[in-house]
Amino acid sequence: MNRVSRRWLLRAGLLLLAGFAAFVARPLFRLGTVAWHDRDTRTPPADGGWDDASRMNETPLAEIVAVSDEVTARAALARARERGLGVAIAGARQSMGGQALLRDGMALDTAALSEMSHDDDQGILRVGAGARWAEVLAFLDRRGRSPALMQPYNDFSVGGSLAANCHGPMAGRPPIAASVVGLSVMLADGKVVRCDRQTEGELFSLVLGGYGLLGLILEADLRTVPNRLLDPTSELLSPADLAEALADEAGDDGVELRLARISVAPDSFLTEGLLTSYRAVDGTPPPLGAETWPSLRRWVFRAGTGDDYGRYLRWQLEGRVAPLLSLGGISRNQVLNVSATVVEDRHGPTTDILHGYFVPADQLALFLQRTELIVRDVGVALLDLELHAVAADDDSYLRYADRSLLALTMRFRQRRLPGEEYRMREATRGLIDAARDLGGRYQLPYRLHASRRQFNMAYPQGRRFFKRKRHYDPDGLFRNTFLHAYSADWSDRQTRREGGRRG
Ligand SMILES: Cc1cc2nc3c(=O)[nH]c(=O)nc-3n(C[C@H](O)[C@H](O)[C@H](O)COP(=O)(O)OP(=O)(O)OC[C@H]3O[C@@H](n4cnc5c(N)ncnc54)[C@H](O)[C@@H]3O)c2cc1C
Repeated sequence: MNRVSRRWLLRAGLLLLAGFAAFVARPLFRLGTVAWHDRDTRTPPADGGWDDASRMNETPLAEIVAVSDEVTARAALARARERGLGVAIAGARQSMGGQALLRDGMALDTAALSEMSHDDDQGILRVGAGARWAEVLAFLDRRGRSPALMQPYNDFSVGGSLAANCHGPMAGRPPIAASVVGLSVMLADGKVVRCDRQTEGELFSLVLGGYGLLGLILEADLRTVPNRLLDPTSELLSPADLAEALADEAGDDGVELRLARISVAPDSFLTEGLLTSYRAVDGTPPPLGAETWPSLRRWVFRAGTGDDYGRYLRWQLEGRVAPLLSLGGISRNQVLNVSATVVEDRHGPTTDILHGYFVPADQLALFLQRTELIVRDVGVALLDLELHAVAADDDSYLRYADRSLLALTMRFRQRRLPGEEYRMREATRGLIDAARDLGGRYQLPYRLHASRRQFNMAYPQGRRFFKRKRHYDPDGLFRNTFLHAYSADWSDRQTRREGGRRG
C-alpha cells in the first residue's frame, strides 16, 4: 500500500471514530447526567402517619397494627370496634387515592400474612394476602410454576392485587379474579368465611375488586401455570395495528405474554407503539434471577422525564436499541419479576401519578388523538403509556372489563402543589369522558379525581355494591378514602353521624 492510500485510510478511520464518538457521546452524557443527579430527596410522612404511592395522601392514623394470622387480625378488629375506629387494610400501598388509608383510623399492615404452599397435582397456590409478588415468583420458580395472572410488576401484595382486581400482560386473558379458586375472608365481626364461585358466591365477587371494603382477605387459592421458556420479539407499529395485535385471541400463535407501550417522544407522540410478544419455546427456563440492569433501566426512563431530547433518547433506546440486544430465551417468571419502583420519581418536590383507562380495541387510535388534545390543552406531562388486552371478567362485582377491552396505564409527572393537582384533576376528568364517549371507562386504584357522576356512569353497579357492603359490614368497620369519596351512604359525615347515634 503506498503512502497516499495509507494516509487516506487513516483519515477515514479517524473520521469514522469521531462520527461514532459524536453519535454515542450525547446519549452517554445525558444518561451520565441523570445518574449523577439521581438522589432520593423524598421526606417520609410524619410519625404516626402513612402515605401511598402518590405521595399526595399523607394521612394521620390512630393506630397501625401488623397482622400475621387469623388471631392477630381478629384481635385488631375487636380493638378497633372498642375504640370506635374505622379500619383500612393496606398491602404495599401502591394505590394512589387513599384506597388503603383512613384518616384517624386503624391501619392494618398485612405484610406478615405471607405463608405459601403449592398443590402440585392441582396447580394451585395457597398464599397469604400480604405476600408480595416477588416472594410468590421466587416460591413458584423453585417448583417450575408461575402465577396464571398478575400485573407485570412484583412489588404489589396479593391482597391489594385481588382487591383492585388487577390486569396484566397475559395475552388476551381476563383480570386476576379469573385465576382465583377460593378466598378466606375475615368479616367485620371476626368470622372467617371461605368463599368461591359456588359457596358464598356473592361475597366472593364483592371482595374481588372490592377495595378492602367487605372484609380482610387472609389467604387466596390461585391457579398456577408452568413456568415456560419464552422467546421475545419486538415490533414498532401504528396504534391501530398495535391494538389489533393486542386484541388477537390468546394462545393462537403460542404467545403467552404481550407487553406494549406507546411513544411519548416528540416526533412520534402517541402515533407509534412498541409491542413485545413472548412466545413459548422448547427448553428449560433458567432459575429466577435478580432483575436485569435496574439502574440502567431507571436512568433511561428518568432521562425521558425531562426535555424533548430525553424523551426522544428513551424511545430510541427502548424501542430500537433494546430489542436488538435481547438474546432470547427468558423465563415467564423473569419477565414478571420487575419492580415498578425502579423507575419511580424520588425527587421531593415532584411525583409520578398513574391513570388507568379502558377502551375497545378499535377505538384506541381515536382515544389517543383525544388524549393528545387533553394533555396539550391542560398542560400535563405524560411520561409513559403501557397497554394490556383484557378479556371479559365474569367474576368480580365492581367489574371494569364487562367485555374485551384494552387497558391503558398512563404515567404523568406532577409537582406536589395545589395548582398542579387542579390541572391533573382536569386532565383526568377529560380523559374519563373521552374513554366513556368511546365505550370505555377508567380504573379505580389511582387518584380520586373522577367526579361522583363519572364514577356512577363508569360503574353503574357501584350504588348496589355499597348497599351490599351494609349487609356484610353493617356498622361500616372497613372504611377508606375511596368509600367516603364515592358512596353517599358511607360519606365521612354520614358514617360519623351513625357512629354517634350508636355510641
Ligand atoms: C407503578 C404502578 C403500576 C401499576 N400497574 C398496574 C397494572 O399493570 N395493572 C393493574 O391492574 N394495576 C396496576 N397498578 C395498580 C395496582 O395494581 C393497584 O394499585 C394494587 O392494588 C396495588 O397493590 P398493593 O398491594 O399496593 O395494594 P394497596 O395499595 O395496599 O391496597 C389497594 C386496595 O386493596 C385493599 N387491600 C389490600 N390488601 C387487602 C387484603 N388483604 N384484604 C382486603 N383488601 C385489601 C386496600 O384496602 C386497598 O383498597 C399499578 C400501580 C402502580 C403504582
